[in-house]
Amino acid sequence: MKKLAILGATGSIGASTLSVCRFNPDLYDITLLAASVSVDKMFELCLEFKPTYVSMSDQHARLALFHLLQNSQLSCQVLDDEASLLQLLASDEIDSVMAAIVGGAGLKSTLAAVQSGKEIFLANKEALVMSGALFVEAASRSGAKLWPVDSEHNAIFQALSPTLQQTIGVCDLPAEGVSKILLTGSGGPFLERELDTFSLITPAQAVNHPNWSMGQKISVDSATMMNKGLEYIEARWLFNTSAEQLQVIIHPQSVIHSMVQYKDGSVIAQIGNPDMRVPIAYVMGGKARIDSGVPPFDFFSSKDFSFAEPDYNRYPCLKLAIDACYEGQHATTRLNAANEVAVEAFLENKIKFTQIPQLIEQVLNLSGNQQVESIDHLFEIDAEAKLQAMKLIKRDFLC
Ligand code: NAD
Ligand code: MG
Repeated sequence: MKKLAILGATGSIGASTLSVCRFNPDLYDITLLAASVSVDKMFELCLEFKPTYVSMSDQHARLALFHLLQNSQLSCQVLDDEASLLQLLASDEIDSVMAAIVGGAGLKSTLAAVQSGKEIFLANKEALVMSGALFVEAASRSGAKLWPVDSEHNAIFQALSPTLQQTIGVCDLPAEGVSKILLTGSGGPFLERELDTFSLITPAQAVNHPNWSMGQKISVDSATMMNKGLEYIEARWLFNTSAEQLQVIIHPQSVIHSMVQYKDGSVIAQIGNPDMRVPIAYVMGGKARIDSGVPPFDFFSSKDFSFAEPDYNRYPCLKLAIDACYEGQHATTRLNAANEVAVEAFLENKIKFTQIPQLIEQVLNLSGNQQVESIDHLFEIDAEAKLQAMKLIKRDFLC
């Protein structure tokens, strides 16, 4: 049995991962569960899955969980701090890591697993958005195997040749006859909404995705289509694409999860119900088709498939992300940092929905491009951009 760590175990991807584990109890030994603040949820998971180690990034949560575990019959060890978590991830006690912490907060732990050559199930897209080239280089150096979990990237992965599947991060697409990666996105809940009412959009409306059930941050990102922008950057790094080889297509039904177009005119798509257990089962099974618990797709009750080009007036965040992708890691880190602050402020009713792209654009304009040399430098850029975004909110943006 492979020894599995689930980072972000109490979240939406964590829940889907554990659901796949329930269907396949002999595949993985759940060695580590990590999360931030949800003590009760984590205690429940400890009772059911009995991990050897458990980690909470929040100090109060860590202490509360420690007491709950002490009063139980369980022998799960609560890790002391972030350093112990990183050390464990790098050790022989872990073989495979589900990287599903939300946001840039997931970068350090994901990277620790990459640097020590682990098998990485990559759901946390923000890590790759921030550190792209450095992340891919670290994986090449250590021999870490990268498995895309994000449904689009997993669909693309499934539609690629075995040679390309084995060269994630350094793919030679033309050598295998690939002409284009077609990244599909639903367009979120506001695809049809009148543009002049966008400033009235509430957090409850924004997190109500028509097809997918996800965490709050990614749901808002889907409504602005920043999610597709982050995924564009993610695809650029995973599949080593040029600008001509990568295109976003709106497909409101979320049935086709992305496609690969070949030079002979063939297009290979991956189709299925919008349920993250499908890509998770595919990577956890190592490409073998294992039970995911997802019902088969019913073609006769499905709606028509439709496709459209994205409109950047409706989705300015998508344009900001694509532009940042070609400016470099400095810009994508600033974009990601400003977006994290903007989404949180929107969810707290501090800024309007339409102010999310405005804030990100202003933060991007505050600094010129720089060469990023190290991960520490990336964290400095991230912290600086977050501070700038918070100052701008206080100064100009409060509702
Ligand atoms: P979520 O908000 O439901 O869960 C986030 C998890 O991260 C929680 O377990 C939380 O405790 C943990 N976390 C947050 N900060 C942490 C920290 N500092 N240290 C340790 N743990 C921390 O989010 P989600 O929807 O599950 O998304 C997780 C990641 O997967 C995101 O990067 C998202 O973009 C990506 N993703 C999600 C989906 C989806 O369907 N939910 C699909 C594709 C990709
Ligand atoms: Mg996705």
